[in-house]
Amino acid sequence: MNVTCKQVAELLADYLNEELESEQKNLLDWHLCGCVPCKIYLVQYREVIITCRKLPDAPLPTEFSSRLAKLLGCKEPPPQEPPTE
Ligand SMILES: [Zn+2]
Repeated sequence: MNVTCKQVAELLADYLNEELESEQKNLLDWHLCGCVPCKIYLVQYREVIITCRKLPDAPLPTEFSSRLAKLLGCKEPPPQEPPTE
């Protein structure tokens, strides 16, 4: 049995939360060993989660949200109001 990149993407959240069956986890580990795009995706995904945990409850910086939108496959981030000072 093999896993596809799409399945890796779908299971990644559970993988990082260690909620996968050990069999599934092994399959993902195996795939991630040999698949550079998925490995990069995993690293970025983990960084986003870690970053989000550290962030205060404030709106995202525009640059970050546009990068995130691009990463998630959105064309344009929703327009944001300029911060009022
Ligand atoms: Zn892959």
